[in-house]
Amino acid sequence: MGDAARQSRQAEDLAPQLSLDLDIAPEAALPDRLFRLGLAPGTDVTLTKNRTVLVSHHPRYGLRLHAGYAWAPDDVLAAILTFLRRRVPKQERLAARRRFLAFPVDRHVPPRAPVRQGPRAVAPEHEMIIGRLVRLHEILNARHFSNTLGTIPIRLSDKMSTRLGEFRADHDGKPVEITLSRRHVRRDGWPAATETLLHEMVHQWQCETGLPLDHGATFRRKAREVGIRPNATAPAGSAYYLSLPGTID
Ligand SMILES: [Zn+2]
Repeated sequence: MGDAARQSRQAEDLAPQLSLDLDIAPEAALPDRLFRLGLAPGTDVTLTKNRTVLVSHHPRYGLRLHAGYAWAPDDVLAAILTFLRRRVPKQERLAARRRFLAFPVDRHVPPRAPVRQGPRAVAPEHEMIIGRLVRLHEILNARHFSNTLGTIPIRLSDKMSTRLGEFRADHDGKPVEITLSRRHVRRDGWPAATETLLHEMVHQWQCETGLPLDHGATFRRKAREVGIRPNATAPAGSAYYLSLPGTID
């Protein structure tokens, strides 16, 4: 290996370390900067990447603050300490709060992926099954409910292990969605899935006609009418049951 090659090799070896230092150093230096600015010695300093916790202080757990503040100038850090100090005049405290809230913490530390924001992503293999269920809903709506039921989002769940399906309404009693267990559809096949979908559609019908969501007399009568078992028992033997308010299996 020639000198030039060796040098470039050394540069490559160094490069990741350098960039690592650049990334880590501000966060590592933050506690000392805070102590220098007046944070009580010995206070535990914990950095978070949770956008909902920018600054919090607890006598037992110490100071928690967003890691992005590691890149903040001293006056922003001083504002955090002012905000946390006892017996600070209200106006001063509010001004301090405005000052540190204005600092863009996300610029250096991107927020973690938000939990389920906007429409849920649908796996491609789910899409085909959901497409069939939506079509099935249309057919059954025409056949058994004179097309009176509204269109409703249908989704598959990987989390339902004993339950086969679920109908959910919001707090105002408006239909939200029908969920079917993906395992159930795969394992038990389309005739069983159709029966489950019809079961949930009877709940949708209860919901849309202002009836209570239950497995009572009107449910059983309607279930018989649409040709499913009125005993509200799943083919695999697991019982349908009421769970969250506005939600029914
Ligand atoms: Zn049910």
